[in-house]
Amino acid sequence: MLISWIKKTTLLDYPEKVACIIFTAWCNLRCSFCHNSDFVIPEKIAQIKDFIPENIFFNFLKTKVWILDWVVICWWEPTIQKDLIEFCKKIKDLWFLIKLDTNWLNPDMLEKLIKDKLIDYIAMDIKWDFDNLEDLLWVKFEKNNFLKSIDIIKNSWIDYEFRTTLIKNYHNLANFEKILTQIIWAKKYILQNYKWWNTLDKNFSWESFNEAEIKEFQNISKKYIENSQIRI
Ligand code: SF4
Repeated sequence: MLISWIKKTTLLDYPEKVACIIFTAWCNLRCSFCHNSDFVIPEKIAQIKDFIPENIFFNFLKTKVWILDWVVICWWEPTIQKDLIEFCKKIKDLWFLIKLDTNWLNPDMLEKLIKDKLIDYIAMDIKWDFDNLEDLLWVKFEKNNFLKSIDIIKNSWIDYEFRTTLIKNYHNLANFEKILTQIIWAKKYILQNYKWWNTLDKNFSWESFNEAEIKEFQNISKKYIENSQIRI
């Protein structure tokens, strides 16, 4: 497992629970707005010398059994790590709950993780409406995987959230409704405001929405998903 960074405790990622966060490396998408391309592009990853050895992480975790509830596995795309299943099993052996942050490109891995009860919560990014995804993502991909992943998650026993990071130059009320039709009646939906940070496309032009505008998006989303929340 490539571990690029560990945040040892957070109360923010999973409300009312204490979690640590594992940041992986490498991604199968190339979103122009991606934060920190150093961990996305293989040539850049090859230059990184100091990944954290797995045994260091597990030694840390064993000392936190009474403090931490959750391990969050996130950025850049965990489901392409070949040993993710084994990694989750080892965490489960220590009785931690696992939250997985993911894009939607690997439905087979999602299915396996859910079926084997190796994860307890999924947060999946819904970046854009299905028909126009390629405008922002810069890579060819299997579009059906998008809908397949949504179906797998919605029809599973697992707790989950879908989330969209709103970017002013790209999202508007019209295309936003298209996004919502893709995830109608989901259990939970999170809206986040975009903040620039070392984007993959160095010329990526962006602007944030203000609070009132985000609230307007939330009001619309509630027509499709009752439990729609803003996370700033
Ligand atoms: S934004 Fe997420 S899915 Fe897109 S390239 Fe970056 S890590 Fe991958």
